Formats: sequence, C-alpha cells, structure tokens
Amino acid sequence: MNPLERAKKAAIESVDALAGALWSLSLEIHRDPEPSMRERRACRRLCAFLEGQGFEVRRGVGRLPTAFQARRAAGRGRPAVNFLSEYDALPGLGHACGHNVIGVASAGAGAALARAVGPEAGAVVVTGTPAEEAGGGKVLLARRGLFRGLDAVMMFHPSGETRAEVSFLALAELRFHFTGRAAHASASPEKGVNALDGVLALFQAVAALRQHIPAGDRVHGIITEGGEAPNIVPARASAWFYVRSATPEGLKSLLVRVEACARGAAQAAGARLRIWRNPVSYAPMRVNRALASLFRENLRRLGVREPDPLPPLAMGSSDVGNVSQAAPTIHPQIRMVPEGVSAHTPAFARAAGSAPGRKALLLGAKALAMTGADVLLNAKARSRVRAEFERRGR
Ligand SMILES: [Zn+2]
Ligand SMILES: [Zn+2]
Repeated sequence: MNPLERAKKAAIESVDALAGALWSLSLEIHRDPEPSMRERRACRRLCAFLEGQGFEVRRGVGRLPTAFQARRAAGRGRPAVNFLSEYDALPGLGHACGHNVIGVASAGAGAALARAVGPEAGAVVVTGTPAEEAGGGKVLLARRGLFRGLDAVMMFHPSGETRAEVSFLALAELRFHFTGRAAHASASPEKGVNALDGVLALFQAVAALRQHIPAGDRVHGIITEGGEAPNIVPARASAWFYVRSATPEGLKSLLVRVEACARGAAQAAGARLRIWRNPVSYAPMRVNRALASLFRENLRRLGVREPDPLPPLAMGSSDVGNVSQAAPTIHPQIRMVPEGVSAHTPAFARAAGSAPGRKALLLGAKALAMTGADVLLNAKARSRVRAEFERRGR
C-alpha cells in the first residue's frame, strides 16, 4: 500500500474511532442552538475538542469573537489544507440548516487527517466561520486574509441529494427608502406626495427589467414599510431587495439597473429616495472541479455515488463564495434528508439531530479527510487543483 492509500485508510479508521465523541459534540451543539455571531458555546466546544486533538487554536480571528482558526502545530506549514466549520443556528428553528453536522464534521475531518498524515506532510487547519445564515462571517474572514496561501478549502453541507459540485450566485442586498409628504388621503390628497407609489413603481420597473436580464440572474424583494392607514397619504415607504448574478461583473451591472429602476420610480412619484447597499456582499462560488473530482472519487470509495453527475448547481448564495475567490474551494452536498425536504424546516432540524445526521457527519468527515490526504500527499493532484485556481474566469 502506498503512503496515500495508507493515510486514507488511517483517516477512515480515525473517524470511526472518534465517531462517538463527534456525534455527542454535534448533539450538544444541536440542543443548544445559537444565532449568527453569538455562537459562543458552540465555538468553545469545537475549540476544546480540537485542542484535545493536539491543535493550536487561535480564538477571535479576523476580529470576530466567535471565529477561530485551529492548526496542527508541527510541520513546515505547507502544503496546507483547511476545513470550514460552521455552527450558527436559525432563530426559532434551531439547527434547521444542519450546521451542527457541518461544524463537527469539519473538526472531525481535521482531527482524522492530522492523525493520518505525519506533521512533515503539511498543515491541517480548521477554521471556525461564524454567521453563515446572517452577517457573512466568511466574507469578513476572507477580507481579513484568513484563507490566503491555502492549497485547498473544503466543507460539506447536508442536503436532499449528494453532489460533489455545488455553486453559488453572487449576492448583494439593497434597501430603498422613499420619502414623500403626508396628507389626508381624501380631504386633501393634492397636498400629499405618496412614498408608497414610489415603492409600487419600483416593483413594476423591476418586473419589466426581469425579461431582459441574463438567464440565472435574480432580483427579488419585499415591501418593508408601506404606510400607516388608508386615510393618510404614506410619507414613508421602503423596500428590501436581493440581487444575484453568476459573476461579479454581472452583479455590478444588475445593481446599476435595479438602482436606476428605483430612481425612476422616485421621480415618477415625486418622492425623495435614499439607497442603502450592504457593504457585505457575497462573491460567486468558483467551484474547483479538480478538487471536487477528488472528493467525488473518495465518496465513491466509501460506497456513495452521485445519482447523476450534473453540472454545478447555482441556486442560492453563500459566504463560501468569497472564500473560493481566495483559495481553491469546494462545498459539496451529502444527502441527509429525502429529496424534497428543504433546509430551514423543522424536518431538516430533526434529521440533523438524529440518525441521518450522524450518518452524514461521519461520511462527510471521512470524505473530507481523504480528500485532504490527496491534497497533502499527492503533489500532482495538488498542482492540478492549483492550476485550475490560477486560471481566472470560469
Ligand atoms: Zn441555511
Ligand atoms: Zn447552511
């Protein structure tokens, strides 16, 4: 058996040996859900586990109190493989996105890989990335350089279907505040300026725009403020939009067009307009297909096949997109629930805290650790991954 095969076998055995500890850690986090940027106890539990596994842990990295970066201390530091650990929950729904499974699987993959390869093989890193659901923790960590110089960054997400390649759209968030003038809506409507008309004209303009944007781009919004009572001309009205595109350039041009819709709408209504754009925006995912195919092959060796190897699916958006701009990255999915059961539902939360969650966690940890071994021990595979990352454009 060559050193790579030996390391993969050792990684699988390590995950099996740690299975009880990993699952009870995951259940602790599941039973104690904490929302984005407030994941103090989950962060503490994961850091304690990794320290117990011989990692050197830095807490509060990237100026985020609930972020951490754990590194297997010995070695030259390169090549370096990084697993992303998420652990935030959803208000009211608990761990309905299964981040208790993700967080512990990545920590487990790091521990298993560190046990399976010698320190001379390179660095094993686990980065604790808070606030995936709200706040974009990885956007801030990427901006602050936490993912620079890594040879591979990986995590998996539990889901209704298994897929090695999952993509995400770039996302920006806009809020539009229209200001008009209140008046009695029946006695003196001519004295009023109707801010709600501005919001309604904005929705009409965006509806018309949708026919003429690239396939796959998305614009969707809600009205967050639309007046107080029918007999008062609304002096204030607001809307909140998400704008998404497959490329950063696409996002930029779509934002210009949506903002033009708002300006035209404000002019039509005679209202004043204030636009707020969230400074935290998500970059699109650059799926590293060379890395994804290593992961796919390892899953196959663990007895799991993708139903149909499909091209990357780009549906939602995630802050992992920003990580993928900084280092070769994958974000595959592993089946945990029946197809058709969506994340962010009570059924998904139940699965994440019971047998299907345990199965996905252990399978994911093994496949991640094995792929980490590929990157650390197989120089050819590593340079294929690097070469793809260096080729700009997708
Ligand atoms: Zn989610
Ligand atoms: Zn999620």
